[in-house]
Amino acid sequence: MRLTYPRLGDAHIYGRLLFQEIGMELIIPDPNSQRGLERGSSISPEDICLPFKLMVDNLISAWEKGADTVIMPATMGPCRLGEYAEVLKVVLDNHGYRYNWILLDSISAVGLNELKKRLALIIKDSNSNSSEIIKALKGVYTVIKEFEKLEKKARISSGYEKQPGRSKEIVNKCRRGLARATSIDQALGILEKSHNSLNSIEIDEFKQPIKIILTGEIFTCIDSFGNHNIEEKLMDMGVSFEKTISIGWWIDNTIINPLGGYFSNKRFNEYMPYCIGGYAKETVSGIYRYKKQNFDGIIQILPVGCMPEIVAKSVFDGLSRDENLPVLSIVFDEMVGEAGYITRIEAFIDMLMRRKNLNLYKGKKCCI
Ligand code: SF4
Repeated sequence: MRLTYPRLGDAHIYGRLLFQEIGMELIIPDPNSQRGLERGSSISPEDICLPFKLMVDNLISAWEKGADTVIMPATMGPCRLGEYAEVLKVVLDNHGYRYNWILLDSISAVGLNELKKRLALIIKDSNSNSSEIIKALKGVYTVIKEFEKLEKKARISSGYEKQPGRSKEIVNKCRRGLARATSIDQALGILEKSHNSLNSIEIDEFKQPIKIILTGEIFTCIDSFGNHNIEEKLMDMGVSFEKTISIGWWIDNTIINPLGGYFSNKRFNEYMPYCIGGYAKETVSGIYRYKKQNFDGIIQILPVGCMPEIVAKSVFDGLSRDENLPVLSIVFDEMVGEAGYITRIEAFIDMLMRRKNLNLYKGKKCCI
């Protein structure tokens, strides 16, 4: 059995570490690219959302490398992602890519026993025993959380660094190291060194950078190709920002503590009290995890064809007015040209800067 799953940000790095640790191989699709998007689009339903088209290409790429089994989360809604597996299967079967599918449905949909059976199927070729597998899972979870802590620190320090680009450089070097690591212990060592490097960069505490909350559709928030590398662009502009959605956040809210996210969101989100599909509710609720007065604005990102996020976008209009917090919504489509996005982001940051300078918005203390 040669396993694969579609790319989603750094998920392939974590998956490779996990399967390597338990003596199995994960086939990693080629990185997302414009050519791949065109290939995926050419056989996808025309009006499906952008992540689907990229996933079609990912699975063709993995098939060409010898993969024969796909692991796919399939939560039966509430947005299209929950049904992706079924549609992907039809599309790929029709074009000769006849994969075996292991669908990781929610417990409420298939029951605990069935889910356990499917999970057992994934690791059936492993020679590791259950305690080794649990140890590997815990190790990879720690890698994910530590890398996300590093990214979080870098996103904030990018607005304060004396040597521009240093935070970004440390994160990228760490990511490259993790992609090459041959064991979880080695990955943890790389992370420790990267944390030390980031903690020792020179910071100008008197700087007053623009501070943003970056939120939006889950795939676009996590995958750098899906968002045209917006995080690096913000870092290059010297903006400090927090991101509401990540792989670690998804694991915590979906697998480890599914009710935790529900209760915390329910209490605070008066603008979108109900789940309307996708992670639209979390897109709006996510900003309540931060003190809004510490931020100058919000950037919402979403791919073309995403219905839940279009609703979230309309909610932001009211929220922006009530909270006196400007919101920029960026819809990423299938075009490669980046100039339009960059101009809009630059204009938004410029507007926030002027607003801050004019004292229309109170200056705040450094939040490092
Ligand atoms: S949240 Fe939107 S873009 Fe993402 S899978 Fe669902 S419908 Fe598609």
